[in-house]
Amino acid sequence: MKLKNTEQTQAVLIGAGIMSATLAVILRKLNPNIKIIIYEKLDRISGESSDALNNAGTGHSGFCELNYTPEKEDGSIDIQKAVNTATSFELSREFWAYLTEQGFIKDPSEFIHPVPHMSLVTGEDDVRFLEKRWKALTQHPLFEGMKFSKDHEQMKEWIPLIMEDRDKDWVGAVTKMDLGTDVNYGALTRILIRNLLISNEVELHLAHEVKKLKRKEGKWRIKTKNLTTGEKIKVYADFVFIGAGGGAIQLLDKSGIPEGEGYGGFPVSGQWLICNNPDIINRHHAKVYGKAKIGAPPMSVPHLDSRVIGGKPSLLFGPFAGFSTKFLKNGSYWDLPLSIEWSNIKPMLSVGLHNIPLTKYLIEQVSQNKEDKMNTLREFFNEAKTEDWDEAVAGQRVQIIKKDEKEGGVLQFGTEIVSSQDGTIAALLGASPGASTAVKIMLDLIDQCFPENVNEWKSEIQKMIPSYKNPEVGGDYYKNSRKRTSELLKLNEF
Ligand SMILES: Cc1cc2nc3c(=O)[nH]c(=O)nc-3n(C[C@H](O)[C@H](O)[C@H](O)COP(=O)(O)OP(=O)(O)OC[C@H]3O[C@@H](n4cnc5c(N)ncnc54)[C@H](O)[C@@H]3O)c2cc1C
Repeated sequence: MKLKNTEQTQAVLIGAGIMSATLAVILRKLNPNIKIIIYEKLDRISGESSDALNNAGTGHSGFCELNYTPEKEDGSIDIQKAVNTATSFELSREFWAYLTEQGFIKDPSEFIHPVPHMSLVTGEDDVRFLEKRWKALTQHPLFEGMKFSKDHEQMKEWIPLIMEDRDKDWVGAVTKMDLGTDVNYGALTRILIRNLLISNEVELHLAHEVKKLKRKEGKWRIKTKNLTTGEKIKVYADFVFIGAGGGAIQLLDKSGIPEGEGYGGFPVSGQWLICNNPDIINRHHAKVYGKAKIGAPPMSVPHLDSRVIGGKPSLLFGPFAGFSTKFLKNGSYWDLPLSIEWSNIKPMLSVGLHNIPLTKYLIEQVSQNKEDKMNTLREFFNEAKTEDWDEAVAGQRVQIIKKDEKEGGVLQFGTEIVSSQDGTIAALLGASPGASTAVKIMLDLIDQCFPENVNEWKSEIQKMIPSYKNPEVGGDYYKNSRKRTSELLKLNEF
């Protein structure tokens, strides 16, 4: 569709998470007259996956996630997914740096901090893999500066807590990328939406649940319920974004667009161990990712993470994956059963049949008690004491199940934008790599939904995000751009 720059043009964004917040800011920059209304079911901004304790806060850049760099049959390392993720995160850094430069974001340390990203492996085979991965990645400018070590003394300096009381014969290795970040996506979402509210650029309705969507007389009719008063409201929009996180599949189905048929959702819940001992918190400063166990979903590799939450340093281990039939943390246990329909029952059943190791893994995870989780933590931090760690529930992720001609149905771990052919409605499904790539995902959505505006908007987007569709990216581009964004985002100040 072509989005007209008039005050009559109305966009409705469903959900006040990082995706809607990012889209609202970008759309207002490109189309300053557009009227944007955000409906949020909860009584607060960012109460679901985007909130700090509901996700891992990793600025995913492909530095530490070992599942992004599989070993190919010929023994070489496939770095493409790591490169794609790193490239996407650069778009986010550029956008946040632009907003800071413009004074829209006042203090970036309210949401982003430098934290080295590290990968840790044990055993000779995995040490060989990690060294090979490091050699392959450091050929690429996006991974310049990554360090590798299997030397105990060096590792003790980098990760003292993890190396404490390690046996002399212990065989292990790490890589370290100082350019890694910890991002509080909840704080960022609140900063973006609140600043739009202050400048009267959006209307936000909290405790309003979108119940129905229907195409009517060239517009979308959205029926919403005010959860405080019970009042039912109808609004009409030229464009709708379903940024409802885990709730997106159900709303996409309600929209009735043919492109949304056949999708199902597979919910994976998460749990943390959170350190309550300041002495231990202060002895670790890194996000340390390990290798996934067989059958584990790729986004559920527990990691020992230094975080900054509410301005305070914290230390989290997890997320442990689990299973719950809810599609949102604040959702209903009926979400999964009620999402099954004729159009998706075949893909859903075939995913169940073809993913036995995943099902087995999730059942094992659900049956873990605190001590089992502590034992997994002890693989990282030998001396961890049970009383120093509390359990907490993380957010819900809904993985996409979609039709597949060969298999009947496939489980997808990435994200996907599903939009109508005319571009008047789009939903974001899936959750990984997620919030880190919100800017890239929203730019893709703009390409997909507003092809007639894209040429006219290109130079404006490049002012905000210089690497967007920029053929000059390469060579020393990232070195210079990272220097600039690090300064603006105060990432040089450890
Ligand atoms: C355990 C875990 C770890 C993660 N770790 C990371 C990480 O380290 N790095 C990273 O980049 N990403 C991570 N992610 C993914 C990331 O959190 C998500 O991709 C991102 O937050 C999704 O943002 P969103 O705006 O789409 O959804 P959300 O933040 O979930 O927002 C959706 C909003 O829509 C609202 N809503 C739903 N239905 C309705 C309705 N009918 N009407 C009105 N409102 C509605 C919800 O209440 C919610 O507030 C993680 C996720 C989980 C669960």
